[in-house]
Amino acid sequence: MGRSYSYGRQSIDEDDRRAVEEVLRSDWLTQGPAVGRFEAALREACGARHAAAVANGTAGLHLAGLALGWGPGDVVITTPITFLASANCILYAGARADFVDIDPVTYTLDPARLEERLEQHRRAGTSVKAVVAVDYAGLPCDWAALGALAQRYGFQLVDDACHALGATLDGDPGYGVKRAQIVVLSFHPVKHITTGEGGAVLTDDPALDERVRTLRTHGMVKDEKRLRQNDGPWYYEMHELGFNYRITDLQCALGVSQLRKLSGFLTARRRIAEQYDAAFATDDRFVIPARRSAASHAYHLYPLRIRLERIGRSRAEVFARLKAAGVNCQVHYIPVHLQPYYRERFGFRPGDCPVAERFYAEEISIPMYPGLGSDDVHYIVEEIRRAVA
Ligand SMILES: *Cc1c(COP(=O)(O)O)cnc(C)c1O
Repeated sequence: MGRSYSYGRQSIDEDDRRAVEEVLRSDWLTQGPAVGRFEAALREACGARHAAAVANGTAGLHLAGLALGWGPGDVVITTPITFLASANCILYAGARADFVDIDPVTYTLDPARLEERLEQHRRAGTSVKAVVAVDYAGLPCDWAALGALAQRYGFQLVDDACHALGATLDGDPGYGVKRAQIVVLSFHPVKHITTGEGGAVLTDDPALDERVRTLRTHGMVKDEKRLRQNDGPWYYEMHELGFNYRITDLQCALGVSQLRKLSGFLTARRRIAEQYDAAFATDDRFVIPARRSAASHAYHLYPLRIRLERIGRSRAEVFARLKAAGVNCQVHYIPVHLQPYYRERFGFRPGDCPVAERFYAEEISIPMYPGLGSDDVHYIVEEIRRAVA
Protein backbone atom coordinates (compact mmCIF):
# COMPACT_ATOMS: atom_id res chain seq x y z
CA MET A 1 0.00 0.00 0.00
CA GLY A 2 3.09 2.17 -0.25
CA ARG A 3 3.29 3.08 3.38
CA SER A 4 6.72 4.25 4.49
CA TYR A 5 7.78 5.50 7.89
CA SER A 6 11.16 6.48 9.28
CA TYR A 7 12.04 6.64 12.98
CA GLY A 8 11.92 10.44 12.86
CA ARG A 9 11.29 13.29 10.46
CA GLN A 10 10.64 17.03 10.34
CA SER A 11 7.26 18.79 10.24
CA ILE A 12 7.41 21.85 7.98
CA ASP A 13 4.40 23.99 7.14
CA GLU A 14 3.47 27.13 5.24
CA ASP A 15 4.52 29.48 8.11
CA ASP A 16 7.98 27.93 8.07
CA ARG A 17 8.33 28.39 4.32
CA ARG A 18 7.15 32.00 4.55
CA ALA A 19 9.64 32.76 7.34
CA VAL A 20 12.56 31.51 5.24
CA GLU A 21 11.36 33.33 2.13
CA GLU A 22 11.19 36.61 4.07
CA VAL A 23 14.87 36.29 4.92
CA LEU A 24 15.69 35.56 1.27
CA ARG A 25 14.10 38.90 0.36
CA SER A 26 15.96 40.77 3.11
CA ASP A 27 19.48 42.23 3.30
CA TRP A 28 20.84 39.63 5.70
CA LEU A 29 21.35 35.98 4.86
CA THR A 30 23.75 35.51 7.77
CA GLN A 31 24.93 37.55 10.79
CA GLY A 32 21.65 39.48 10.67
CA PRO A 33 18.71 40.06 13.02
CA ALA A 34 17.10 36.59 12.77
CA VAL A 35 19.95 35.08 14.79
CA GLY A 36 19.23 37.28 17.80
CA ARG A 37 15.50 36.64 17.45
CA PHE A 38 16.05 32.88 17.50
CA GLU A 39 18.37 33.17 20.50
CA ALA A 40 15.79 35.23 22.41
CA ALA A 41 13.09 32.66 21.63
CA LEU A 42 15.39 29.85 22.81
CA ARG A 43 16.16 31.65 26.09
CA GLU A 44 12.44 32.02 26.69
CA ALA A 45 11.56 28.41 25.77
CA CYS A 46 14.43 26.87 27.75
CA GLY A 47 14.46 29.16 30.79
CA ALA A 48 18.11 30.08 30.15
CA ARG A 49 19.81 33.46 30.69
CA HIS A 50 21.99 33.07 27.59
CA ALA A 51 21.67 31.20 24.30
CA ALA A 52 24.14 31.14 21.40
CA ALA A 53 22.87 29.58 18.18
CA VAL A 54 25.53 27.62 16.27
CA ALA A 55 26.04 25.61 13.08
CA ASN A 56 25.00 22.26 14.58
CA GLY A 57 24.82 20.40 17.89
CA THR A 58 28.28 18.91 17.47
CA ALA A 59 29.78 22.40 17.08
CA GLY A 60 27.89 23.35 20.25
CA LEU A 61 29.45 20.46 22.17
CA HIS A 62 32.90 21.34 20.79
CA LEU A 63 32.50 24.96 21.93
CA ALA A 64 31.20 23.79 25.33
CA GLY A 65 34.37 21.78 25.99
CA LEU A 66 36.63 24.64 24.86
CA ALA A 67 34.72 27.26 26.87
CA LEU A 68 34.93 25.03 29.95
CA GLY A 69 38.69 24.76 29.50
CA TRP A 70 39.04 21.01 28.89
CA GLY A 71 42.47 19.97 27.75
CA PRO A 72 45.23 17.36 27.88
CA GLY A 73 45.41 15.63 31.25
CA ASP A 74 41.68 15.97 31.91
CA VAL A 75 39.28 13.05 31.95
CA VAL A 76 35.71 13.71 30.81
CA ILE A 77 33.08 11.02 31.35
CA THR A 78 30.01 10.35 29.21
CA THR A 79 27.49 7.60 28.50
CA PRO A 80 28.02 4.96 25.80
CA ILE A 81 24.34 5.16 24.77
CA THR A 82 24.53 8.37 22.79
CA PHE A 83 25.44 9.78 19.42
CA LEU A 84 29.18 9.87 18.67
CA ALA A 85 29.35 13.65 19.14
CA SER A 86 28.82 13.49 22.94
CA ALA A 87 32.14 11.64 23.22
CA ASN A 88 33.98 13.15 20.27
CA CYS A 89 33.72 16.65 21.75
CA ILE A 90 35.92 15.42 24.60
CA LEU A 91 38.63 14.38 22.14
CA TYR A 92 38.32 17.64 20.15
CA ALA A 93 39.37 19.48 23.31
CA GLY A 94 42.37 17.19 23.78
CA ALA A 95 40.94 15.55 26.90
CA ARG A 96 40.56 11.81 27.57
CA ALA A 97 37.10 10.24 27.19
CA ASP A 98 35.80 7.67 29.63
CA PHE A 99 32.45 5.86 29.70
CA VAL A 100 30.16 4.97 32.58
CA ASP A 101 27.31 2.50 32.19
CA ILE A 102 23.61 3.36 31.98
CA ASP A 103 20.80 2.71 34.42
CA PRO A 104 18.94 -0.44 33.27
CA VAL A 105 15.52 1.21 33.62
CA THR A 106 15.97 4.80 32.42
CA TYR A 107 18.91 4.18 30.01
CA THR A 108 20.58 7.39 31.22
CA LEU A 109 23.95 7.63 33.00
CA ASP A 110 23.82 5.58 36.22
CA PRO A 111 24.85 7.78 39.17
CA ALA A 112 25.88 4.75 41.27
CA ARG A 113 28.23 3.48 38.52
CA LEU A 114 29.48 7.05 38.06
CA GLU A 115 30.39 7.31 41.74
CA GLU A 116 32.34 4.03 41.58
CA ARG A 117 34.22 5.33 38.56
CA LEU A 118 34.97 8.67 40.23
CA GLU A 119 36.46 6.75 43.18
CA GLN A 120 38.60 4.69 40.80
CA HIS A 121 39.89 7.85 39.14
CA ARG A 122 40.53 9.43 42.51
CA ARG A 123 42.60 6.44 43.63
CA ALA A 124 44.51 6.47 40.32
CA GLY A 125 45.22 10.18 40.77
CA THR A 126 43.44 11.22 37.53
CA SER A 127 41.31 14.34 37.62
CA VAL A 128 37.78 14.07 36.27
CA LYS A 129 37.15 17.49 34.82
CA ALA A 130 33.57 17.07 33.60
CA VAL A 131 30.65 14.77 32.87
CA VAL A 132 28.62 15.02 29.65
CA ALA A 133 25.21 13.60 30.59
CA VAL A 134 22.67 12.87 27.87
CA ASP A 135 18.91 13.14 28.42
CA TYR A 136 18.52 10.03 26.30
CA ALA A 137 15.40 9.76 24.11
CA GLY A 138 14.05 12.91 25.83
CA LEU A 139 14.00 11.66 29.42
CA PRO A 140 15.94 13.92 31.83
CA CYS A 141 18.80 12.20 33.66
CA ASP A 142 18.82 11.90 37.44
CA TRP A 143 20.07 15.48 37.72
CA ALA A 144 19.71 15.63 41.51
CA ALA A 145 22.17 12.74 41.89
CA LEU A 146 24.51 14.09 39.20
CA GLY A 147 24.48 17.53 40.82
CA ALA A 148 25.30 16.05 44.24
CA LEU A 149 28.25 14.09 42.78
CA ALA A 150 29.48 17.18 40.91
CA GLN A 151 29.55 19.09 44.21
CA ARG A 152 31.29 16.32 46.12
CA TYR A 153 33.92 15.50 43.48
CA GLY A 154 34.26 18.96 41.95
CA PHE A 155 33.59 18.37 38.25
CA GLN A 156 31.68 20.34 35.62
CA LEU A 157 28.39 19.16 34.13
CA VAL A 158 27.31 19.46 30.49
CA ASP A 159 23.76 18.53 29.57
CA ASP A 160 23.67 17.09 26.06
CA ALA A 161 19.97 17.88 25.67
CA CYS A 162 19.86 17.21 21.93
CA HIS A 163 16.99 14.76 22.61
CA ALA A 164 15.26 16.77 25.27
CA LEU A 165 14.02 20.14 24.00
CA GLY A 166 10.69 20.60 25.80
CA ALA A 167 11.34 18.06 28.56
CA THR A 168 10.80 19.30 32.12
CA LEU A 169 11.92 18.30 35.60
CA ASP A 170 9.58 19.33 38.44
CA GLY A 171 7.69 21.30 35.78
CA ASP A 172 10.79 23.33 34.87
CA PRO A 173 12.08 23.40 31.26
CA GLY A 174 15.18 25.18 32.63
CA TYR A 175 16.30 22.16 34.71
CA GLY A 176 19.41 21.70 32.56
CA VAL A 177 20.91 25.19 32.86
CA LYS A 178 20.19 25.21 36.59
CA ARG A 179 22.25 22.06 37.14
CA ALA A 180 24.79 21.99 34.29
CA GLN A 181 27.23 24.77 33.36
CA ILE A 182 26.27 24.31 29.70
CA VAL A 183 23.31 22.76 27.88
CA VAL A 184 23.60 21.85 24.19
CA LEU A 185 20.73 21.47 21.70
CA SER A 186 20.55 20.20 18.11
CA PHE A 187 18.09 21.18 15.39
CA HIS A 188 18.78 18.35 12.96
CA PRO A 189 15.57 17.37 11.10
CA VAL A 190 14.91 14.33 13.32
CA LYS A 191 14.98 16.45 16.49
CA HIS A 192 12.04 18.31 18.09
CA ILE A 193 12.44 21.43 15.98
CA THR A 194 14.64 21.84 12.94
CA THR A 195 16.74 24.45 11.18
CA GLY A 196 18.14 21.91 8.68
CA GLU A 197 21.46 21.84 10.46
CA GLY A 198 21.72 23.85 13.66
CA GLY A 199 22.36 23.85 17.37
CA ALA A 200 22.55 26.03 20.45
CA VAL A 201 24.66 26.48 23.56
CA LEU A 202 22.65 27.55 26.63
CA THR A 203 24.08 28.78 29.91
CA ASP A 204 23.25 30.96 32.89
CA ASP A 205 26.91 32.05 33.14
CA PRO A 206 27.62 35.29 31.20
CA ALA A 207 31.38 34.59 31.03
CA LEU A 208 30.81 31.17 29.42
CA ASP A 209 28.34 32.68 26.97
CA GLU A 210 30.88 35.32 25.93
CA ARG A 211 33.55 32.66 25.47
CA VAL A 212 31.24 30.56 23.29
CA ARG A 213 30.30 33.59 21.15
CA THR A 214 33.95 34.52 20.63
CA LEU A 215 34.95 30.96 19.72
CA ARG A 216 31.93 30.65 17.41
CA THR A 217 33.43 33.30 15.17
CA HIS A 218 37.22 32.75 14.89
CA GLY A 219 38.09 34.00 18.40
CA MET A 220 37.46 37.53 17.08
CA VAL A 221 36.73 40.40 19.46
CA LYS A 222 35.13 43.68 18.36
CA ASP A 223 33.72 44.92 21.67
CA GLU A 224 35.76 48.09 22.47
CA LYS A 225 35.91 47.28 26.15
CA ARG A 226 37.78 44.05 25.45
CA LEU A 227 40.24 45.34 22.81
CA ARG A 228 43.93 45.60 23.68
CA GLN A 229 44.20 48.66 21.40
CA ASN A 230 41.87 50.33 18.92
CA ASP A 231 42.98 51.47 15.45
CA GLY A 232 39.53 52.61 14.31
CA PRO A 233 36.00 51.52 13.41
CA TRP A 234 37.26 48.64 11.20
CA TYR A 235 39.38 47.20 13.96
CA TYR A 236 39.07 43.74 15.52
CA GLU A 237 41.39 41.44 17.39
CA MET A 238 41.81 37.69 17.58
CA HIS A 239 42.28 36.61 21.20
CA GLU A 240 42.11 32.85 20.82
CA LEU A 241 41.84 30.20 18.12
CA GLY A 242 38.17 29.91 17.20
CA PHE A 243 36.07 28.58 14.34
CA ASN A 244 33.33 29.56 11.95
CA TYR A 245 30.50 27.78 13.72
CA ARG A 246 27.88 30.41 12.87
CA ILE A 247 24.32 29.61 11.81
CA THR A 248 22.56 31.55 9.02
CA ASP A 249 19.56 33.89 9.23
CA LEU A 250 17.66 31.56 6.90
CA GLN A 251 18.04 28.80 9.46
CA CYS A 252 17.25 31.02 12.44
CA ALA A 253 14.06 32.34 10.84
CA LEU A 254 13.00 28.73 10.38
CA GLY A 255 13.98 28.05 13.99
CA VAL A 256 11.80 30.89 15.32
CA SER A 257 8.84 29.62 13.31
CA GLN A 258 9.42 26.01 14.42
CA LEU A 259 9.83 26.95 18.07
CA ARG A 260 6.35 28.50 18.06
CA LYS A 261 5.01 25.04 17.31
CA LEU A 262 7.08 23.20 19.92
CA SER A 263 4.29 22.67 22.43
CA GLY A 264 2.03 21.19 19.72
CA PHE A 265 4.89 18.94 18.58
CA LEU A 266 5.42 17.72 22.15
CA THR A 267 1.72 17.03 22.63
CA ALA A 268 1.73 14.96 19.44
CA ARG A 269 4.83 13.00 20.49
CA ARG A 270 3.34 12.26 23.92
CA ARG A 271 0.05 11.14 22.34
CA ILE A 272 1.96 8.71 20.10
CA ALA A 273 3.97 7.44 23.10
CA GLU A 274 0.72 6.77 24.96
CA GLN A 275 -0.59 4.72 22.06
CA TYR A 276 2.63 2.69 21.94
CA ASP A 277 2.67 2.28 25.73
CA ALA A 278 -0.90 0.99 25.66
CA ALA A 279 -0.04 -1.48 22.89
CA PHE A 280 3.18 -2.89 24.37
CA ALA A 281 3.11 -2.36 28.16
CA THR A 282 1.35 -5.60 29.01
CA ASP A 283 3.02 -7.69 26.29
CA ASP A 284 5.92 -9.58 27.87
CA ARG A 285 7.84 -9.66 24.58
CA PHE A 286 8.54 -5.94 24.93
CA VAL A 287 9.85 -3.42 27.42
CA ILE A 288 8.50 0.10 26.95
CA PRO A 289 10.59 3.17 27.83
CA ALA A 290 10.34 4.22 31.47
CA ARG A 291 9.13 7.56 32.70
CA ARG A 292 10.36 9.40 35.77
CA SER A 293 7.70 10.72 38.13
CA ALA A 294 9.15 14.25 38.44
CA ALA A 295 9.98 14.53 34.74
CA SER A 296 8.00 15.01 31.58
CA HIS A 297 9.47 12.97 28.75
CA ALA A 298 10.01 14.79 25.43
CA TYR A 299 10.05 11.54 23.36
CA HIS A 300 12.62 12.43 20.74
CA LEU A 301 12.80 8.65 20.40
CA TYR A 302 10.60 5.77 21.40
CA PRO A 303 13.19 3.11 22.30
CA LEU A 304 11.36 -0.22 22.40
CA ARG A 305 13.23 -3.20 23.82
CA ILE A 306 12.48 -6.60 22.35
CA ARG A 307 13.00 -9.55 24.65
CA LEU A 308 14.66 -11.68 22.04
CA GLU A 309 14.71 -14.81 24.23
CA ARG A 310 10.89 -14.73 24.22
CA ILE A 311 10.41 -14.40 20.48
CA GLY A 312 13.07 -16.79 19.18
CA ARG A 313 14.07 -14.46 16.38
CA SER A 314 17.00 -12.09 15.96
CA ARG A 315 16.73 -8.34 16.13
CA ALA A 316 18.05 -8.21 12.56
CA GLU A 317 15.13 -10.39 11.39
CA VAL A 318 12.60 -8.20 13.18
CA PHE A 319 14.25 -5.14 11.68
CA ALA A 320 14.14 -6.62 8.16
CA ARG A 321 10.49 -7.66 8.48
CA LEU A 322 9.53 -4.17 9.60
CA LYS A 323 11.47 -2.61 6.75
CA ALA A 324 9.61 -4.84 4.29
CA ALA A 325 6.35 -3.45 5.72
CA GLY A 326 7.57 0.12 5.25
CA VAL A 327 8.39 0.63 8.94
CA ASN A 328 11.98 1.84 8.85
CA CYS A 329 13.32 1.70 12.37
CA GLN A 330 16.78 2.58 13.66
CA VAL A 331 18.90 1.49 16.61
CA HIS A 332 20.00 4.11 19.17
CA TYR A 333 22.81 3.54 19.82
CA ILE A 334 25.76 1.32 19.05
CA PRO A 335 27.66 1.83 22.34
CA VAL A 336 30.28 4.46 21.57
CA HIS A 337 33.05 2.69 23.51
CA LEU A 338 32.71 -0.26 21.08
CA GLN A 339 33.37 1.86 17.99
CA PRO A 340 36.62 0.76 16.33
CA TYR A 341 38.17 4.19 16.84
CA TYR A 342 37.57 4.08 20.59
CA ARG A 343 38.58 0.41 20.94
CA GLU A 344 41.75 0.69 18.90
CA ARG A 345 42.98 3.98 20.30
CA PHE A 346 41.89 3.78 23.91
CA GLY A 347 41.49 0.05 24.58
CA PHE A 348 37.78 -0.04 25.42
CA ARG A 349 36.33 -3.55 25.14
CA PRO A 350 33.07 -5.48 25.17
CA GLY A 351 32.11 -5.95 28.81
CA ASP A 352 33.18 -2.45 29.87
CA CYS A 353 29.54 -1.28 30.02
CA PRO A 354 27.43 -4.46 30.20
CA VAL A 355 24.06 -2.77 30.75
CA ALA A 356 24.55 -0.55 27.70
CA GLU A 357 25.72 -3.50 25.61
CA ARG A 358 22.67 -5.58 26.56
CA PHE A 359 20.42 -2.61 25.83
CA TYR A 360 22.02 -2.19 22.40
CA ALA A 361 21.32 -5.85 21.60
CA GLU A 362 17.59 -5.46 22.24
CA GLU A 363 16.67 -1.90 21.25
CA ILE A 364 14.81 -0.60 18.21
CA SER A 365 13.66 2.99 17.80
CA ILE A 366 10.20 2.85 16.26
CA PRO A 367 8.66 5.77 14.33
CA MET A 368 8.13 8.84 16.50
CA TYR A 369 7.35 12.22 14.97
CA PRO A 370 4.39 14.63 15.08
CA GLY A 371 3.21 13.82 11.56
CA LEU A 372 2.08 10.32 12.59
CA GLY A 373 -1.69 10.03 12.96
CA SER A 374 -3.53 7.45 15.07
CA ASP A 375 -4.07 5.35 11.97
CA ASP A 376 -0.34 5.33 11.22
CA VAL A 377 0.48 4.35 14.79
CA HIS A 378 -2.10 1.59 14.64
CA TYR A 379 -0.51 0.22 11.46
CA ILE A 380 3.00 0.39 12.97
CA VAL A 381 1.87 -1.42 16.14
CA GLU A 382 0.27 -4.20 14.09
CA GLU A 383 3.40 -4.60 11.95
CA ILE A 384 5.61 -4.78 15.05
CA ARG A 385 3.38 -7.51 16.51
CA ARG A 386 3.53 -9.35 13.19
CA ALA A 387 7.32 -8.99 13.00
CA VAL A 388 7.86 -10.69 16.35
CA ALA A 389 5.11 -13.33 15.97
C1 LIG B 1 21.83 14.92 17.28
C2 LIG B 1 22.74 14.77 18.44
C3 LIG B 1 23.96 15.43 18.54
C4 LIG B 1 24.59 16.21 17.44
O1 LIG B 1 23.83 17.11 16.82
P1 LIG B 1 24.12 17.58 15.30
O2 LIG B 1 23.26 18.79 15.22
O3 LIG B 1 23.71 16.47 14.40
O4 LIG B 1 25.57 17.90 15.21
C5 LIG B 1 24.68 15.30 19.72
N1 LIG B 1 24.26 14.53 20.72
C6 LIG B 1 23.11 13.84 20.64
C7 LIG B 1 22.70 13.00 21.80
C8 LIG B 1 22.33 13.92 19.50
O5 LIG B 1 21.21 13.19 19.40
